[in-house]
Amino acid sequence: MCVFCKIINKELPAKIVYEDELVVAFHDINPQAPIHILIVPKEHIPTVNDLEEKHKELIGHIFLVAKKIAKDMGFAENGYRILINCNKDGGQEIYHIHYHLFAGKPLGKMICE
Ligand code: 5GP
Ligand code: ZN
Repeated sequence: MCVFCKIINKELPAKIVYEDELVVAFHDINPQAPIHILIVPKEHIPTVNDLEEKHKELIGHIFLVAKKIAKDMGFAENGYRILINCNKDGGQEIYHIHYHLFAGKPLGKMICE
């Protein structure tokens, strides 16, 4: 079972900030910004390449969850960044789709090194 499935199943601890029937969101263990949250679907979908028509509603739902977390945690107005990595060249390390949510300071330009 992958690391995020273990967090979803509560077999691994995480600082959960939001949970519903479709997703769980928790603080990244190695934050890259003052606020760094991962929003993860409960369904084990390895990468963006594995998304199908049936996932359309889930994907839309995740953006609404990101919006809700931003509002509830108080950084909606200042702003934030949502990011997804796909496969090796995209820098993906955990092969269970997750949306990075970064906030808490001006994040500057996106740099793709
Ligand atoms: P990726 O590079 O796959 O897009 O991002 C994986 C993210 O998961 C990284 O930012 C990494 O710090 C985070 N991460 C890896 N293992 C764990 C864990 O066990 N718990 C939490 N909370 N985050 C993790
Ligand atoms: Zn998984």
